[in-house]
Amino acid sequence: MPIRLDGKQVRDAILASLRPRIAALEKTEITPGLAVVLAGEDPASEIYVRHKVKACEDLGIYSEKHLLPAGVTSEELLLLIRSLNSHPRIDGILVQLPLPGQVDEREILMAIHPSKDVDGFHPMNAGNLMTGLPGFRPCTPAGIMRMLEHYNIPVSGRRAVVIGRSNIVGKPMAMMLLEANATVTICHSKTVGLAEECRRAHIVVAAIGRAGFVTPDFVNPEAAVIDVGMNRLHDRESVARIFEGNEKKLADFASKGAVLVGDVHPAVFRNCAAYSPVPGGVGLLTIAMLMSNTVESAERRLARRGGTPIS
Ligand code: NAP
Repeated sequence: MPIRLDGKQVRDAILASLRPRIAALEKTEITPGLAVVLAGEDPASEIYVRHKVKACEDLGIYSEKHLLPAGVTSEELLLLIRSLNSHPRIDGILVQLPLPGQVDEREILMAIHPSKDVDGFHPMNAGNLMTGLPGFRPCTPAGIMRMLEHYNIPVSGRRAVVIGRSNIVGKPMAMMLLEANATVTICHSKTVGLAEECRRAHIVVAAIGRAGFVTPDFVNPEAAVIDVGMNRLHDRESVARIFEGNEKKLADFASKGAVLVGDVHPAVFRNCAAYSPVPGGVGLLTIAMLMSNTVESAERRLARRGGTPIS
């Protein structure tokens, strides 16, 4: 019977490990602080920001929400980022993506000081990961590493295939698996013989953005399959095709008009060693790791002040 890698369990373990660290910081009169910047009125982004602020509240992390109009200019955003860079209570700055079209996203992300880049997207932190130096690691792949560790899935010496090479998931995921001594193959849209590449892997991470793309022929029965994909299906035909015979999913679709589907086809879960579901898997870990990076940043603030947390 395959092991279901439960994101909620891993998330709760991550958050539980942060509470004593936050309490120890409080004793030195440091409260970790996160600034969340949202420009425009994208409904999905608004939900993500709400969840991030709520996670801060639940843990006792100070948070500030900066809501800017859709017409904001790059200059206005840069001014805000610069003031947050020097804000003494702010340990982490998160700019919710995507930004409105007129804003130069790269310029904004580059402006965040690497010591407050809790998303781990700044080239300095990407370089730190690449060269094995300390720095903030991107939250989604960092959460996946925690998930593998939590469920004692061996990584060292194993063959891992990452499908997807984005800067926020695929590439850092591959680097983290490499750092943990896996033998890593990165696949993408130009990969020839993708299913065959994947079949040889002990760990398959799918970060593609295509519903049900990874089918049973991609996976061997010994593999742990990690599904990063978050695809919202709005047509009944696709839902019925992917979830053939699953009356519950069809009922879900009928009541909500959409269902969330991963990159891995549900048929894969019957013939693998372990899998992370969508929803209920990796998606729950990203915010937990954002909290973790924010706490780590506050600990560095304390270290710069010449102190250590008091437990
Ligand atoms: P992305 O930037 O669009 O990258 C997708 C990657 O998939 C690209 O590298 C692309 O290859 C590859 N790809 C596309 N079609 C392919 C194909 N037919 N065969 C092989 N590879 C293919 O997406 P992303 O930001 O990495 O996100 C990937 C998925 O993860 C999305 O569903 C996203 O919503 C989800 N996600 C979830 C979380 C979370 O759970 N917290 C966080 C981030 C992202 P090329 O480079 O060759 O184009």
